[in-house]
Amino acid sequence: MKPTKPRLGYVSQHPVKQGFVSYYQIWREKLDAGKLGKKYQQETIKLLNGLQKSHNKKLNEQANELHALAFEQIDCLNCANCCKSIPARINDTDINRIAKKLRMKPDEFRVAFTCRDEDGDMVINRSPCPFLEVDNTCRIYEVRPKACREYPHTDQFTFRSNISLHAVNAVYCPAVYHILENFKQLRLKE
Ligand code: SF4
Ligand code: SF4
Repeated sequence: MKPTKPRLGYVSQHPVKQGFVSYYQIWREKLDAGKLGKKYQQETIKLLNGLQKSHNKKLNEQANELHALAFEQIDCLNCANCCKSIPARINDTDINRIAKKLRMKPDEFRVAFTCRDEDGDMVINRSPCPFLEVDNTCRIYEVRPKACREYPHTDQFTFRSNISLHAVNAVYCPAVYHILENFKQLRLKE
């Protein structure tokens, strides 16, 4: 399954962090103006590959710091764009764990909630995700797929191994967009 277009619009059912609205709007304006398309993604990948060469050892550390900075402003409960737009990858371990929680057999869960995407990867078969509640909480939060726990892959020392993914994720995730913009600022200061 292809990611769908970002389904925009944050919800204010949860307390909104100071700075969140402007943070979100900066990203949204870029997206609406078509400034996060292929050209942006190619330039971003080039930039990150350059950073990887010059900051090889420090890149993941810097990403962790910028991730923390971004999530000081952003609360995922106000956003949930990833859950609304990108079918989450799911593996057999995830399925066994989630099916148990839902008191289903793993095969029943597979039929009801999974399919293969264009790359042959198993994903949740609907977008927005069927486990996303109207207030942006996740119905299966404690047992959610590993891919959901790790998204947007900008912390936990996994930044370097996901470089081309970040440029695409900036289209869906305001936090990734700002993390990448901050990397650009760091580069300008060098
Ligand atoms: S990870 Fe990104 S896209 Fe997903 S809810 Fe959080 S800020 Fe939004
Ligand atoms: S399982 Fe939960 S965290 Fe993962 S996409 Fe669905 S709602 Fe979002």
